[in-house]
Amino acid sequence: MDGLSHALHQTLLSDLLCPGCMEYMVPPIQLCKNGHSICSKCSQNAYFCPTCGAEPSNTRNVHLENIVRGQKYPCANRPSGCLDLFSIEQIAEHQAVCSYGPVECPLKKLNVECPWKGVKSDLEEHAKAVHPEYFVRSSTHTSPWLDDDRQLVLCFGEVFLYNQRIRDGTFHCVVQLIGPRSQASKYKCEFQLRAANGIEQISKTFTVRSYEEDSETSFSSGKCSRLHDVVVTNFAVEHWLDMTVTISKE
Ligand SMILES: [Zn+2]
Ligand SMILES: [Zn+2]
Ligand SMILES: [Zn+2]
Ligand SMILES: [Zn+2]
Repeated sequence: MDGLSHALHQTLLSDLLCPGCMEYMVPPIQLCKNGHSICSKCSQNAYFCPTCGAEPSNTRNVHLENIVRGQKYPCANRPSGCLDLFSIEQIAEHQAVCSYGPVECPLKKLNVECPWKGVKSDLEEHAKAVHPEYFVRSSTHTSPWLDDDRQLVLCFGEVFLYNQRIRDGTFHCVVQLIGPRSQASKYKCEFQLRAANGIEQISKTFTVRSYEEDSETSFSSGKCSRLHDVVVTNFAVEHWLDMTVTISKE
């Protein structure tokens, strides 16, 4: 970015901060009766415009909303070293997993009650101490249940979340990196399912997804292993599967 456009970007960014909460405004952006912009959260909670004290109106600043959608935003952890820029749709998702800032326990997303929040580098210690039943320290792990399953996998100095789910007659498996999309695409995962007769086997390989994406999106993207549950049941011996999941670097 040259000097002028960088300066413009900086001015624009400061204009996009809500004067009420000092966070970047996301659409819908409301106007006060005198034309000052205010984020919708503040406009609902405040009786007065933080800039001039006038009442908030129901009018939206459509022009500014369009500018907001075209902008790239710095991560809140920029002072700690995260230099990437994100669209307004991606920034919240990114900040939730940014390796320069606090992350929530990834198992929380998979219905494991855990209040832990900390930096990504402490996640291994947390998983070992609190979730040993879900913790794997190897690039290959087995998934022996014909049921929903989850694992925190540590390999390549990164943390991955393995999520296996049976819904509506389909057996889904997905691996997500606790990190941004740009890093996730450097890894692939192979799901190998073997039958007890030693002859039949199914193997599927996909790119690792990012934890920035919710698992519903990963499952419905088609970029995850999806098998009809009748097929998987045929491979099972009394509800046990001979399945391995291997993560490797591209
Ligand atoms: Zn606000
Ligand atoms: Zn005002
Ligand atoms: Zn970041
Ligand atoms: Zn936890």
